[in-house]
Amino acid sequence: MNERILVVEDETPIAEAVGYALREAGYDVDTLADGDAALSAARQRPYDLMVLDLMLPGLPGLDVCRAVRAESDLPIVMLTARDGELDRVLGLEVGADDYVTKPFSVAELVSRVRALLRRRALDRANGGSVQRIGGLELDVAHHAASLGGKPLTLTRSEFRLVTLLASEPGRVFTREELVRHLWDSDFSGDRRAIDVHMSNLRRKLEDDPRNPRRLQTVRGLGYRLVGGDSATEA
Ligand code: CA
Repeated sequence: MNERILVVEDETPIAEAVGYALREAGYDVDTLADGDAALSAARQRPYDLMVLDLMLPGLPGLDVCRAVRAESDLPIVMLTARDGELDRVLGLEVGADDYVTKPFSVAELVSRVRALLRRRALDRANGGSVQRIGGLELDVAHHAASLGGKPLTLTRSEFRLVTLLASEPGRVFTREELVRHLWDSDFSGDRRAIDVHMSNLRRKLEDDPRNPRRLQTVRGLGYRLVGGDSATEA
């Protein structure tokens, strides 16, 4: 059975091009042009992923995304017009899994969609393992994270990144490796998105995000995760 994707975009040429490309890639696609309709469809139909434009008639894309995220872990790729929206779009408040900035290539969007669906399948297949580092605990099967026994709310991308870092504590992962891990491709752009995710993660993992003890930047190289008790080993 094909995976089913909901495309929400009021600009007909874009909606048609995206729908066509996704069908060509083997997915079933429904297209809607309105935010309110999108929200009720997402609630009623068992979609595997949603491609969601930010600017919509009716309920705005950010509100649709926030509402869906509050109710389910449906993967969501946002179509945005400006990089300036990234912090919000990828942040916990809105909680999109990924984004492309208009104008985008349809091929790039399809590869993002494919990567997200593959990630989800991998996450399910990897179920069962629990990673612990310092006071941080990551339960892959249940997509649950806690710090010092207190539950943490992480987006899917944040969870996936921190799980990779925790798989080899202390090892420095380059932005390229992190990009590849997040998108299952060698797509070289979007190191900026990695930095956004890391900054969001720090706000959740660190007592003082400006002086991180767990999630450390190694200048010129990348990021690493350490236990956090042995403070300044950077
Ligand atoms: Ca639009």
